[in-house]
Amino acid sequence: MADKISIPRGTYDILPDMSYKWQYVTRAFRDIAQIFDFREIVTPIFENADLFERSVGEVTDIVEKEMYKFSDKKGRVFALRPEGTAPVVRSFIENSLHKSGNIAKLFYSGPMFRYDRPQKGRYRQFYQYGVELIGSDHPYTDAEVIALADSFMKKLGLKGYRLEINSIGCSKCSPRYDESLKKYFGLYKAELCPDCLRRLDKNPKRLLDCKNNNCRKIAENAPSILDFLDNECRSAFEMVKEYLNLMNVEFVINPRIIRGLDYYNKTAFEIITDSLGAQNAILGGGRYNTLIKDLGGPDLPAIGFAGGFERLISLMQLEKLSFGPEPAPAVYLVVLGENTIPYALEICYNLRDKEITVEFDIEKNSLKAQMKAANRANAHYALIIGEEEMDKKKVTLKNMTAGTQESLNKEELLLRLNSPIDNR
Ligand code: AMP
Repeated sequence: MADKISIPRGTYDILPDMSYKWQYVTRAFRDIAQIFDFREIVTPIFENADLFERSVGEVTDIVEKEMYKFSDKKGRVFALRPEGTAPVVRSFIENSLHKSGNIAKLFYSGPMFRYDRPQKGRYRQFYQYGVELIGSDHPYTDAEVIALADSFMKKLGLKGYRLEINSIGCSKCSPRYDESLKKYFGLYKAELCPDCLRRLDKNPKRLLDCKNNNCRKIAENAPSILDFLDNECRSAFEMVKEYLNLMNVEFVINPRIIRGLDYYNKTAFEIITDSLGAQNAILGGGRYNTLIKDLGGPDLPAIGFAGGFERLISLMQLEKLSFGPEPAPAVYLVVLGENTIPYALEICYNLRDKEITVEFDIEKNSLKAQMKAANRANAHYALIIGEEEMDKKKVTLKNMTAGTQESLNKEELLLRLNSPIDNR
């Protein structure tokens, strides 16, 4: 027997019994983004590796350890995208989207790739959804983006989550804070993990977000960024909170949120759950006012977020939320005898023309086997077509739930199935 080839580690297949759930959440995200008047943007799944090295930052896990980097046949170095913001910004700049003169409100969804240690809720290929709002520094836009994330959770019916917000300051307040962190963590050098030790000088904020238990304990008493904000950052943060209150978005303040990537400033936020164990982040985002300029574009401020569909779906399953009806055919054709196939197919295509879902299994021929299959498929109706029906130019329609059966001609059948109650 030939050797089996298995799926790469850290990836998974979305099988038919799950795919309708995926469709449900991806559609729900699209719907909510459109209600807020965000437009979809689709970028390639690989980009020049430089894009991520320059934007995400070289002293981050994503760039240091997790990028799927490869060279093509001409030696160009690419990376499978580890996140969605840098590609959207690259596209925004390259296509001069700022020329419209309007704020750009963009959303995306698709696979991302990180070479991390796989575990429950953490994959090497995972699916993110996200938005980017480019062209305003007004705190209202922070609140609008956060409200969109919150509306999405509410639309899905989720309850077990918490929205946490923070301000991580700007290039003026951040260095003072970094200095105080260096001083504080410097006192514990002997106890810090090797990653933290390495980052202490270059990126001390990252120490607040280390998962190592010891480092975490030390971080608990570290200075808070909120004591270091300058007047502008402080008053912007106050306004974000005020707008969120006006929009009825519940939140808590968590001064420990720093976000993993280099390009963030001012507002940072996360949606966290206590139900999914270690991988507790459902969504994260923040403001990035310098990234567009840093990548060679105009000097425009921006804010966005990204969330993972996997954890969202896990949480929905845990909370026993609905993903809409499982797909099932409205009509299952039960065709008795080869002779009747042309007549059955004519009816089948008439129904499909009217957007009625019809299933027909050419491999089965007995009445019993086909009725059993109709049942298993959860079909609403079995449409029985035998020689007698064909000769009389009729069909027998059996309602699988009620058990009732009627003999109808083609016109009657179409009318019957077009009534909204009966045609799922
Ligand atoms: P990040 O881009 O790291 O801020 O992540 C944003 C969101 O994407 C997280 O809150 C998770 O929901 C999701 N996410 C990030 N990395 C992974 C991963 N390796 N596997 C599954 N979901 C992930």
